[in-house]
Amino acid sequence: KADRIHNFNAGPAALPLPVLEEIQESFLNFAGSGMSITEVSHRSKWFDDVINDAVVRAKRILKLDDRYHVLFVQGGASMQFCMIPMNLLGAGDTADYVNTGTWSTKAIKEAEIQGKAIRVVASSEDRNFSYIPEGIAFNPNAVYAHITSNNTIKGTQWAQFPDTSGVPIVSDMSSDIFSRPLDVEKFGMIYAGAQKNMGPAGVCMVIIREDLLGRSPKDIPTMLRYSTFAEKNSMFNTPPCFSVYTVQLVLKWLEETIGGLDKMAALNRKKADLLYDYMDQSEFYRGTAEKNSRSLMNVTFRLPSEDLEKTFVAEALENGLGGLKGHRSVGGCRASIYNPTPLASVEALLDFMKTFERKNG
Ligand code: PMP
Repeated sequence: KADRIHNFNAGPAALPLPVLEEIQESFLNFAGSGMSITEVSHRSKWFDDVINDAVVRAKRILKLDDRYHVLFVQGGASMQFCMIPMNLLGAGDTADYVNTGTWSTKAIKEAEIQGKAIRVVASSEDRNFSYIPEGIAFNPNAVYAHITSNNTIKGTQWAQFPDTSGVPIVSDMSSDIFSRPLDVEKFGMIYAGAQKNMGPAGVCMVIIREDLLGRSPKDIPTMLRYSTFAEKNSMFNTPPCFSVYTVQLVLKWLEETIGGLDKMAALNRKKADLLYDYMDQSEFYRGTAEKNSRSLMNVTFRLPSEDLEKTFVAEALENGLGGLKGHRSVGGCRASIYNPTPLASVEALLDFMKTFERKNG
């Protein structure tokens, strides 16, 4: 434990220490089975209990009613970029997309590759994706409106979700799922790669409402069809058992140790405020996202020069603070502070930032 660092990786990212310890303890003999969770059959009662508990917890945490199905799909969030238009848009259907950065751009591209009739209804590319567009005129006849709720690379986040005149929102929540309470009524679908807020890589959680689930055209391959996963409790084929198990433990931690989404959101706000408040009074660090669009999950910032940024990242690591380099496409620095990142890690980062500024400012 003593040799673990403060981990600010963007994903895969830090997991709660109690979860890692529980995995370690039960790794060779899971639930008295005499086998590791990586060795039990996915057709066993042991695994059934794991996946069912993960689904029940996800639904309870987000207050999802029975119209919503919680699925576990492989292929990451990136696979959803193609599965969404493939399943939800038939001939003559259209959907709106808001472009707020790299991941939205990729989602749009996958719909376009399939020749689907989508429309980019707003974009923040004009100011380098540093903000979330407002006052968007969504098409009331669209099947869905796609957004990326948190933009991992640019460090922006939708503080409020847009009014789409009743058109269901489909949201990529890879980097902020379970970080705050949601008005789920607005959402037809929520999806998230596990490897930031809820587990290891290898599984994507897909929350989909019944009306959207029923839309898939007949010619969709079995493994790319949402109803296949819904009908077989995500076990039409072998699921990524270990990833699902870890998600289950993280959701248990969120409910039982943190105390649910309101508490989680308050803690996330506190962590982010520590960094933003300091940056706002500093002339050395400069946040890259516009203030009212700032992400509580990915805090992106620049230092006065690229050389100083390199030194900052290197010295931080020497001081036990890892993963602070910005995404390779944008440079700069980024502290990813997802649900599992403890307040103590953020406080350690803040101390380091202050010291670094005093020495180099
Ligand atoms: N969407 C967002 C918002 C992301 O941050 C990422 C990963 N960084 C992805 C999608 C892609 O996820 P995956 O690697 O699981 O395909």
